[in-house]
Amino acid sequence: MNIAIDGPAGAGKSTIAKLAAKELSFIYVDTGAMYRAIALFMLNNKVDVESDDALQAALNKIDIVIAHEDGAQQVYLNGENVSQTIRKEEVGNMASKVATKGPVREKLLDLQRGLAASHDVIMDGRDIGTNILPKAELKIYLTASSDVRAERRYKELAEKGETPDIAKIKEDIEARDYQDMHREIAPLKQAEDAVLIDSSYMTIDEVVEKIVGLAKSI
Ligand code: C5P
Repeated sequence: MNIAIDGPAGAGKSTIAKLAAKELSFIYVDTGAMYRAIALFMLNNKVDVESDDALQAALNKIDIVIAHEDGAQQVYLNGENVSQTIRKEEVGNMASKVATKGPVREKLLDLQRGLAASHDVIMDGRDIGTNILPKAELKIYLTASSDVRAERRYKELAEKGETPDIAKIKEDIEARDYQDMHREIAPLKQAEDAVLIDSSYMTIDEVVEKIVGLAKSI
């Protein structure tokens, strides 16, 4: 069985998908992490991603492997575990940029479909229900207001001891949403047959319960 969860940055997709996967004994696949790994390579190697040739040459040097260790997804970029490094804001912003490029999306398509074909998965991203797994048995479009999403991100960073600027966080989130929703290839949008969940005023447990309930009713 495949469950697709799409939605904008900071809606809680990964937190919720991880918990729901645990309850259902599914594998959680975070596709954003794959775009982030590609973005990290581009940043580390100062690749001009606006040059088609440079982008393609770089993609030819990138090998991404997804593993699950103690239930948690680990991302390996050319043999190195980059699961922590890819969480930085600048990597997320670069991920949104490289995700507009056709060759990048093509490179990840087989990897994503392969994981879904061989396991019961909850896969989160931006185009899972619309493009990667159009036949997923359950599709969720998880969203929340940009104010709530900025606040959640702020708290997350503050807990790590950082002193973030909430206005800047909101600006970044809205810029990323705009880029993800308006790109030509596989833009973020709700699939026609997706269930819309607005998590702005729901607890994590409430959202998890709703998704697990929907999955069990299939
Ligand atoms: O979900 P996360 O914030 O880790 O994703 C980083 C970026 O990767 C997103 O802003 C989006 O541009 C891109 N992405 C995508 N398609 C997916 C998953 C992520 O375009 N399926």
